[in-house]
Order: sequence, then C-alpha cells, then structure tokens
Amino acid sequence: MSPREFLKQRAIWIGFVAVLVPLVILLGLQYVWLVNLEKASSIARQATLKNYLEGVLKEIDNFYGRNADRSLFLPVSLFLQHRLDKAAWYFEKADVEGVKRFFVVDYSKTPRARLLFWDPSARAMMPAGDEPEARSVFFATAPFHMMAIKEAPHRALAFTVDEKDPENTMILWPVTDESYRVVGVAGMILDHDWFLESFLPRVVHRTLTDYFGDPAPKDLIVRVQDNEGGVVFATDMEPVRAGDLKRTFPWVFTSYDLILQSRSLTPEQWARTNFWMNLTLSALLATAVLGGLVLSLRTAARERKLSEMKSDFVSNVSHELRTPLASIRVFGEFLGLGRTTDPAKIREYGEYIESESRRLTQLIDNILDFSKIESGRKTYRFEIADLAAVAEDVLHNFEVRLRHTSYRLVRHGSKEALTPVYIDPDAIAQAVNNLLDNAVKYSDGGTTIEVGVDEVENAVVLWVRDHGVGISKKEQSKIFERFHRVGTGLVHDVRGSGLGLAIVRHVVEAHGGRVRVESEPGRGSRFSIYLPKATAEGSGDEVRDRGAKEARAT
Ligand code: ADP
Repeated sequence: MSPREFLKQRAIWIGFVAVLVPLVILLGLQYVWLVNLEKASSIARQATLKNYLEGVLKEIDNFYGRNADRSLFLPVSLFLQHRLDKAAWYFEKADVEGVKRFFVVDYSKTPRARLLFWDPSARAMMPAGDEPEARSVFFATAPFHMMAIKEAPHRALAFTVDEKDPENTMILWPVTDESYRVVGVAGMILDHDWFLESFLPRVVHRTLTDYFGDPAPKDLIVRVQDNEGGVVFATDMEPVRAGDLKRTFPWVFTSYDLILQSRSLTPEQWARTNFWMNLTLSALLATAVLGGLVLSLRTAARERKLSEMKSDFVSNVSHELRTPLASIRVFGEFLGLGRTTDPAKIREYGEYIESESRRLTQLIDNILDFSKIESGRKTYRFEIADLAAVAEDVLHNFEVRLRHTSYRLVRHGSKEALTPVYIDPDAIAQAVNNLLDNAVKYSDGGTTIEVGVDEVENAVVLWVRDHGVGISKKEQSKIFERFHRVGTGLVHDVRGSGLGLAIVRHVVEAHGGRVRVESEPGRGSRFSIYLPKATAEGSGDEVRDRGAKEARAT
C-alpha cells in the first residue's frame, strides 16, 4: 500500500487523533494554569480586599485633610493685629462640607485665651459662650495655650486631631509667629452625624463599585464599628464573623474600625469556587468538542461506507445484468441461426431465455422499487388476498427456473384455508421472490429449499428455508440495510445488488408486518414474513396505515 493510500484510508482516524491530542494537551495545560491561577487569585483577592479598605480610609482622610487645608490656614497677622473678625471671611470662602463649627482661639493677650466661633448666618465671628463645644475646644487646645503662656516654640507644622470628646472631633491648626511662638489656634469641629449618615455611606458605596465593579457584589459587606463593638454603619446587618479584614481609622474618627467581610466565601474559598467553575466549563467545552468530533467522524465513516457500498452496488448490478444478457444473446443466436431443430432443445432454450428474462425483470424491479422507496414515492395497491395463493404463483414460476438445476423445492403448510390478509399481492410476490432468489444464491446445488405458509396467533407467516452458507449473528441485524452484503468467503463469490432484503423489509413493514431471520453459519437460514390477518382489525386498513407510517419513518 502506498503511503498516500494509507493516509487516505486512515484519514478519519488521523483527523480524530489530530484533534484529540491537542485537545488533551490543552486540557492538561489548562488544568495546570488553573491550579496556579487559583493560588494567585486567592492572594490577589486578599490584596484587593485590603486595598479596598485602605482606599476607603485614604479617601476619608484626604477629604478632611483637604478641607482643613482650605479653611484653617489663617494668616498670623489676623492674630497679631487683633483682626480675628476677618477669620469669618476665610471660613466662608473655604466653603467646605462636613464641618459643625469653625473657631479660632486667640492667645495674643495671654494668659487669657479668647474663643470665637464662626456664625455663618451672621457671617461673623462670635465670642463663645458656655456651650459644651466651647468647653471641648478649651480642653483640646489647652496644650497650645500652655505653650503660648510659656512662649515655647512650636515647630511641628501639622494639623492635630483631637478626639477627647467623642461628640466633638476637631482638627486644629496652631498658628505661630516668626519665632514659632503659638499665637492662636484655628480649628473646625467635624459634623459627626453628617459623617455617619451622608459622607461615609457615599464613600463606601462608590469605592465598592470602583474596586469590584458595578453593581457591587452582594457578597461583600462593609461595616464600621466603634471601639465597643457597636455597629455605626453597615451595608448589611449580618453578624460579623471572625477572620474578616479590619482597619482602624488612622487620622480622624480613630475610635472606629472599618471592617470588610465576605458573606459566604473567604478569598481561598472564592478562588476554589472559581477554579472549579473554570474547570467544569473547560470540561464541558472539551466534551462538546469531542462529541461534535465523534458525531462528524461517525457521519464521515458512514458516508464513506455508503459510497463504497454504492460503488460495489454499481459493479455488482452491471455484472448481474451482463451475465443473463449474455446467455440470452447466445441462446437467441442459436435459435435465430436455426442451429438446432430438436424441438426439445428449442423448448429448453426458450425456457432458459424466459427464466433469465424474469431474473432481469426482477432485478430491474428491485432497483426501480428501491429508488421509489428511497424517494418516498412507493405506493401499494392493497386488497384482501390469500397468502398461500400469492405464494403459489411465485413458486410456480420459481419451479420453472429450478427445472434445469439440482435444487429441490419442498412445500410445507396446512391443508386448511388460511385467514385472508390485506396485501399488495405484487409487492408481496416480489418480496417472496427476493427470499427465494437468495435461498438459491446462498446455498449449493443439490440442497433443498423449503417454503411454508402457516398461521400463528394473529398473523399469517410465510417462510423460506435453505441449507446454505447461513449468516452469523453479527451480520443478521445488518443484512436488511440497503447495499449491505456479507463480505466473507463463500458469499463474496455470489453477485448481488444488496437491495433484495432491504426491499423485503420495507414492503413487509408497509403491510404492518415484520421479517425474521434465524440462521447459523454453515447450516442454512430461515426467513419468515409475518403479515397481520385481515380479520384481526377490520379490513387491515389500520394495520397497514400504521405499518406504512413505520416504514416511512425508517
Ligand atoms: P444480495 O443482492 O447481495 O443478495 P440481499 O439484500 O438480498 O442482497 O442480501 C443481503 C446479504 O444478506 C447478502 O449479500 C448475503 O450476504 C446475505 N443473505 C441474504 N440471504 C441469505 C441466505 N438465504 N443465506 C445466506 N446469506 C444470505
């Protein structure tokens, strides 16, 4: 076999392997990637969660830091020139949110400290009274007051946050003169309620979508807790679990903790779930690809087999046609040239020509019928008939054919009249003919061919038995397929179209009946046609309709 032919014959398998191998390699690689990805994604998830917490806290600190920048840098001249009423202008211009009160503490007349609150409605600085906020401010700024009295230099240029009074968290900016002496303090008391009710929720939700996409995953819960464990804000009120991520507010509101918890999954579980989901998807995809591949390979194999069978069919049929035609021509020439005058011989030639013509007609009928069956154009003309009589007609012609052979035909059957059947006699005759033809073809001369007609419970049976080569169990289910021919030993020497039994089955099923084969290699075969009795159900119409439907469906 040339390499090209080898490739051609194995094309389907080569194609299969060519797809299967990369697919398996790809699956293996994907598994390794997914395992690595699982590890990496667990770490990445943990990092994202941490980043989120940092992000929220940074945003809050930035906000208050910016606000303090914009509003608390009062010029030292206001203190030195006793023009603190002007501070109102600075606070108003800063126009910041989230501040309960702006104030200045003036130490320019130490040891006295003077506290002025900004009154936005009056757009002026007002001396503080005895309100609790005033007390908180004095308390918070006491260290600066001490410095002012002692004239100690204050070099740290930074905002100070004071939270001694939880109700009045404040940011303070100590104002110093050229020699770093504290001359006063500018400050703002933060609006705690506004922070909890408006600002914090806004930041949390926006940051959630920034970090985890919009809409934010329902799985994540963010909460803020005070140092006694009381929840002051939460996106969901589920109990907090241990092992959640927690960060303390670093600059303002440092008594609070920001907590992030995943409702159901830890980062490890989350990564594991993703791993399994991806693996399942890959497996499903691979199965679908493989399934598709197997299906198309099967179809390709079937098509190839069919096309092989068709080309066998063409060569078989040509041979089948040519052999009887050659005999007919030879005998026709004998007769035409008047080579023989012996009446017995003339009759013999005539009979031979007739019998061969019958075979040709049968073959052509089979081919035409098959084409009609294939295209769904085959029709039947049903009538009430006696199966034994139909069989007898066929057998009579068959005997003529056997006359000059060594085959023996033996009839079986009851003497009593059979229940009539509702059939197309021509079609059934053709089916019986095909069975008889096979019985001759697949057995040696000298053997007996037996034919019988019988009745069973609700059917009439016609059977043909030969003592020929027989059919193996494996082949028995296939011989009724179109073009199928058993491809071993003896049988291959016999020519045939592979259509005979396909037609038998179609015809019988269109009658609502069935064909059965019992056979053993080397011991012959018995084919039985079961046809429903006409009296069983009306005139058999229903049976036939059902049969026709089934036959069309096959
Ligand atoms: P063919 O034209 O080849 O006879 P059929 O459809 O009639 O086509 O039969 C299909 C195949 O079944 C045959 O090729 C033969 O191998 C097997 N077969 C049919 N009838 C018999 C039989 N009586 N004994 C043994 N084999 C048979």
